[in-house]
Amino acid sequence: MQTFYHILELKKHLNVLRQEKKRIGFVPTMGALHKGHLSLINRAKSENDIVICSVFVNPIQFNDAKDLEKYPRTIDTDKEKLIAVDCDILFHPSEKEMYPNPDTTLFDFGTLDKVMEGKFRPGHFNGVAIVVRHLLNIIEPNNAYFGQKDYQQVLIIKKLVKLLNIKTNIISCPTEREEDGLAMSSRNMLLSSHERKVASLIPRTLFKIKKECTGNNINELKEFVTKTLDTNKLQVEYFEIVNAETLLPISSFNEAKEIIACIAVKIGSIRLIDNIILFP
Ligand code: AMP
Repeated sequence: MQTFYHILELKKHLNVLRQEKKRIGFVPTMGALHKGHLSLINRAKSENDIVICSVFVNPIQFNDAKDLEKYPRTIDTDKEKLIAVDCDILFHPSEKEMYPNPDTTLFDFGTLDKVMEGKFRPGHFNGVAIVVRHLLNIIEPNNAYFGQKDYQQVLIIKKLVKLLNIKTNIISCPTEREEDGLAMSSRNMLLSSHERKVASLIPRTLFKIKKECTGNNINELKEFVTKTLDTNKLQVEYFEIVNAETLLPISSFNEAKEIIACIAVKIGSIRLIDNIILFP
């Protein structure tokens, strides 16, 4: 695996590969890699000639300075994991390399970034969009891979490439889970062993409502989820059942063809998100 720290050198290298007609697959990450990230790399490997993974903890997408400070940084083990899955290129730029000057672009994603994560993390998606636009412009991949765990993010990135007429295909990949169902996340390693145990209640509750969303019982399901988690000292920031295309809340299951339930929960000071597709 080749590691690049500088944009110009990386671009030069990728230009040669493009001249050789290689298809380039890209997986952007913030590091602290786990099997979820590696499943994206594996998918990219199967659909491209060259796979590039970026590891960059993007400061401008953090709306909470403490969250940024304690975000895990494990570049040495990240490198080992990337080599083990045969990733071709690692791009690991510094903050100065990515933002020599502040980028103050303000994107308009309509209602997509006003709800759920957008509501509770003001500025988060604008920061994500700035870094992803920058990375896609540098790398110009044929395909870029994102996890469905961050469902709202995938919709916003799809909208971003449409708005900016970027030619990359945006591919959404299924959520990898731990044995007890907890969605893999770099933040899981920040949980105490007790917190880690109770965290499994999040997926269990989501799986249960998927089984029970047969009638027109949206409010009951919402109450069930918040009550179950609250009783177990998990602080639900939001739990929404929404139209999977618009992310707007629905009041009955026949209001949309695709329906997804999304949740954000705080366990102590650690914030976790998850979602489950209810229909189809
Ligand atoms: P992050 O490093 O958290 O920014 O994540 C980088 C990419 O990996 C994003 O597209 C995430 O949606 C994706 N990802 C994170 N966790 C998982 C998971 N458990 N399963 C699949 N993809 C994931």
